[in-house]
Parts: sequence; C-alpha cells; structure tokens
Amino acid sequence: MIDARRSVTESVLAFDAACRRIPGGVNSPVRAFRAVGGVPIFVERAHGARFIDVDGNQYIDYVMSWGPLILGHAPPAVVEAIMRAAALGTSYGAPTKAETTLAELVASRLPSIERIRFVSSGTEATMSAVRLARGYTKRDLIIKFAGCYHGHADAFLISAGSGALTNGVPSSPGVPASVAAQTLVLPYNDIDALTSAFAEYPEQIAAVIVEPYVGNMGLVLPKPGFLHALRDLTSTEGAVLIFDEVMTGFRVDHGGVQTREGISPDLTTLGKILGGGLPIGAFGGKAEIMAHLSPEGPVYQAGTLSGNPIATAAGIATLQALDAPGVYDRLENITGRLLDGLSAAFRKHGVAHRAARVGSMFGFFLSEQPVVDLVSAQAADTAQYATLFHALLARGVYFAPSQFEAGFVSLAHDEATIDATLHAVDDALRETCGQPTRS
Ligand SMILES: *Cc1c(COP(=O)(O)O)cnc(C)c1O
Repeated sequence: MIDARRSVTESVLAFDAACRRIPGGVNSPVRAFRAVGGVPIFVERAHGARFIDVDGNQYIDYVMSWGPLILGHAPPAVVEAIMRAAALGTSYGAPTKAETTLAELVASRLPSIERIRFVSSGTEATMSAVRLARGYTKRDLIIKFAGCYHGHADAFLISAGSGALTNGVPSSPGVPASVAAQTLVLPYNDIDALTSAFAEYPEQIAAVIVEPYVGNMGLVLPKPGFLHALRDLTSTEGAVLIFDEVMTGFRVDHGGVQTREGISPDLTTLGKILGGGLPIGAFGGKAEIMAHLSPEGPVYQAGTLSGNPIATAAGIATLQALDAPGVYDRLENITGRLLDGLSAAFRKHGVAHRAARVGSMFGFFLSEQPVVDLVSAQAADTAQYATLFHALLARGVYFAPSQFEAGFVSLAHDEATIDATLHAVDDALRETCGQPTRS
C-alpha cells in the first residue's frame, strides 16, 4: 500500500543548491529539519490536506504552513479573492475600504479589539504591541513565559535559564544584554512566580505577554485559573495584558482563546489565519491604549506593505468562510478522531505519550510525565520523535519536523484522511517499535 522507500532525489538536489546560497538552505530555521535530521522535503504544489514534493511524492500535511491554512491548501474562495485583488493592483501605500472591512470582521469576533492596526507578520504585531504598552504605561520591563514564542524581535528572544525568575539572558547572539535585561522570563502556569515578579519590580512592568494556549513548545494548555489570575494581577498592577493569539486566533474558536475562556486582554496580537496564507499580522485592543499610536498619539509604528490589498482580500475571504455553520465543531470532531486514534496506536505499541488538543490544534509529547511548562516539555524523547517522524514521512504523512511544535488540522482533512494517517501511524510504530501487533 505505502512505498516506504520513496525517492527524494530532487529534494536532496534542491537542498544542496539552496544551501550554497541561503544560510541553512531555508528562510526560517525549523524548515531545515535540524531537530529530526535528514533533508527537508521541497514542495512543488499543494491542494486540500495534501502537498506534493518535487519528486512527485504526496503527503498528508499536519503542518499547514504552521497554522494559517485552516481551510486547507489553495481553497477556491481564497485563491479567487487573491486573483481578483491582484488584478486591481498589488499595493498602493494608501488606504482602502477593504482594510476597514477586515477590521470590522476581526472586531466582531474578538470584542476586546475595539481598534486594530494591520502589519505584515506576527513578529511585527508583537513587537509593535510591546512598544505601545511601554509607551502607554511609561514603564520598560516586560514579562514573558519560557517556551512561549512571540516572533523573533529582540525583546522576545530570551531564554529562561533555571530558577523561578530570571533576568533575561539572550537566546541569540545579536540581542544586546541591555535589551534582554528588560525582559523577565517566568515559567508558564506559575502564578506564584508572577506574583513575586510584580512584588520585586513595583510599577516597573509595562506588559505581560503570553500565548494563552502555548503552541510553540508543542501544545501546552493552561492550568485551571492561570489565565484568570493573569488577568487579575495585571489589572491590579497596572500592566498591559497582551494575549499573543497569532496562532490561536480564529483557530480554537471564532474569537480565539479569549472568547473560549471569557477573558478580555488589553491588547491582542494576530497573524497566521488572519491572512489566509498571505503575510499579515495585526495588533489591537482597548481604544484608550490604541489611541496612543501614531498619528493619533506619540508611539510610532508603520509599514510600507501594511494592510496590503492582496493579504487583506485573502483574510476577508478566510474569515467569511469560517462563518459557515458548524465549522468549529467539525474541526474539533475531526481532530478528536486523529488524537484518539494516535493515543490508541501509542498505547497498542507501548509508547509513553502525553497528547493534547484544543479545537484543531494538537500535540503529543513522547514522555511519561505531564507537560505544564518548558522544563517538563523538554523531558520528551526527541530521538524517538525523530524516528517516528521519518517513519511517517516515508509513509506520506508530514508531521512537524520537531517535537516542540503544535500540529494543525484543516477543514480539508476529512475522515478518510485521518484514517489513512492512523493506518500509517500503526504501520510506522510496528516498524519502529519492533513489537508484534494485531490490528
Ligand atoms: C507564529 C507566531 C508568531 C510570529 O509570527 P510570524 O508571522 O512568524 O512573524 C508570534 N507569536 C505566535 C504565538 C506565533 O505562533
């Protein structure tokens, strides 16, 4: 049924050529497969739940461009919107009515967003939101949580080190120590650490930024009460609460984590699904805070391609498609089918694991211990993950090339797609675990 010795000759050649000119052969590091070894698969084209590589192999895709493609690859409504917009001009550097249309669509789904500004990536959104929070509070320090990813701006590339509260140490050369020192890193899910940080730095903390459901260390969910405690503490202390919903926005619900959990952050950052596969980001929230943004207020922020007409059109088409009745129920059901099947296969083959899902986001750690933060996430067996990843790749199933990434299901993944995946998983585990099984 499945050819486990498929050829990837063209990908190998393409990667060689790319490596000669592009550092690591890729334009974003995780694409290079360093966490699992081997040569990255070069994509030729994609449709629905699948892509086809440059050797003609087909894969069921659970990366889905790392989150944006909730409708699947190349959904006709979005492709048509892109073509229509492109024919009218690709960028104007002047306002369009479509930007207000998209702003209204977002505000109607996320009531905490009274006003919004569009940018071109999630990184720009978080970077701008933090500058705005600092300008608004006239404070400098920010708090982030270890294992949360907020894009690659200097302020966020700070690792936790050990201990409950670490004055930031840069996780990349090129981030000045003086910048890192403005970022405090705490363990996710640890409200005591947050209370201590506010006590230690009274009236100095401008903002707390969090992935309310963390999708960037694998999928790690909040303990009951954690997000509400975050909301209460930041309000009391006069710090801006920023929900980074670049991944979760329009993914776990029409309105993201905040509508699911009934929490109203001060600012929210968005991206990924918002652009339907084109480059976009946004930050928005309380009108009183957003009024500090240039040209209404003094906090500067700008972008040549911000509100780009093609990305805006793709975003509008995507959000409108998500209004079809039952969309999120369907996504949740199909993701449940996948995760239930995965867990059953792991149990059958005696593989220790911790699976999690919410909406159409999922993750599984190859680990025996519960995962609540970065330290417990890092206990997972990355070597075993790499073995499983390659066994699945050889069977035409593309999971994230790292243990520490969430997976994504789209509306193009139907029952048959999930069942084909589960068949491949069983087969892969039979090979890699070397245990006798019966199906
Ligand atoms: C992807 C992501 C970002 C960065 O977005 P880019 O568009 O890659 O710059 C920021 N925050 C979260 C939570 C993300 O998942």
